[in-house]
Amino acid sequence: MALRTIRMLGDPVLNKACKEVKEVTPKISTLISDMLETMYEANGVGLAAPQVGILKRVVTIDIGEGDGPLIMINPVILASDGTQTAGEGCLSLPGKAGQVTRPNHVIARAYNEKMEEFEIEATELLARAICHEVDHLDGHMYTEFVEGDIYDVEEEEEE
Ligand code: ZN
Repeated sequence: MALRTIRMLGDPVLNKACKEVKEVTPKISTLISDMLETMYEANGVGLAAPQVGILKRVVTIDIGEGDGPLIMINPVILASDGTQTAGEGCLSLPGKAGQVTRPNHVIARAYNEKMEEFEIEATELLARAICHEVDHLDGHMYTEFVEGDIYDVEEEEEE
């Protein structure tokens, strides 16, 4: 495993749509391991492949509830409802956060690191993290959806 460089807001790679993963090649396995290491090292709750410069539909999430990381390949949000508004940050814009309204409940489908399909139902922070990371795969940053100003934070969890 190796740490990868996290791309910062303004890097054009963050505004591109990512390609679907067709199979988990050794290269994709290494990418996933590196993304996990990079996410944990940065104290992030989520990371999307374009944030390390790879335009593939891969995300890693760990909201720190002890369930271990959630690895999602080709994630799709099937349904969402409710709303939640809270401060949201991103590892591609460290030290900053802004208020973003997201669905409070989502159902998503993805493939795991063995390319087995699964569905997940998520609420609150996990729902927010899934939405945030799926946005990255389509080239979107949370800064596009911020209500009010982006503000400085001391140590907020970043996605
Ligand atoms: Zn992010």
